[in-house]
Amino acid sequence: MDLRKAMDLELMIIRCLKKSIIINKIFTINWSQSLSPYTNYITPNQLDSSGLLNININIGFDTTAQADAGTLKNIAKEKQKLQDNVDACCKTYQVACGDIVKFHFDYNQKNAPAGGYTNAPGGTSLDPNAGGISGVAGGINVLVTGSPINYGGSDEGETTGAGNIGLNTGGLGLSGNLLSHELGHRGGYKGGNIDNKTHTNDPSKIMVGGTFAIGGTPGSGIDLCWCNAIASLAK
Ligand SMILES: [Zn+2]
Repeated sequence: MDLRKAMDLELMIIRCLKKSIIINKIFTINWSQSLSPYTNYITPNQLDSSGLLNININIGFDTTAQADAGTLKNIAKEKQKLQDNVDACCKTYQVACGDIVKFHFDYNQKNAPAGGYTNAPGGTSLDPNAGGISGVAGGINVLVTGSPINYGGSDEGETTGAGNIGLNTGGLGLSGNLLSHELGHRGGYKGGNIDNKTHTNDPSKIMVGGTFAIGGTPGSGIDLCWCNAIASLAK
């Protein structure tokens, strides 16, 4: 290598070093001002102050639903959509940040009542089976059934006064927002414009009322009231 080439090489190395120092400095400033080590888009004060909380769901089945590949795939879709919706709450409203959806399964099928779950006030006919699901203490019990759930109409889902949830396999996994909808009721959603504020007539929203839902299934749209309802379920 001649002297000229050696000097060029040295110059190039110095330039590279300078560049890397500049990059390092920019990175350091950005990191400390806007990035948290926990995620790449929220600042530490937006994280739940009590740490990462879980939304625990205990899934059970009755004798008219099978925990087969198709049903489990639909349940997985409901779980993913719920987590996506929770994450959207953090991004949009800084609510429910870091909350993690966890599903626990009880494969011991409950006996489905003849004629399905029908017309008991407050949805109580779901309670014996849904309430009997074993899982995490304090978790929300969700019964998957192939039987009709009929409280003044054929419903894809229902949340009882006791807080148990029933989901019909016919509605499971369509948009994937059926469980998110019922959990909104469980969390006390009152942000709508119909049905005593428990539903909205906007089909793009999770809390759309059944008669307004496109294809009979809820949309993906969150609102602050739904996010607060869901955040209240995280333990
Ligand atoms: Zn509803």
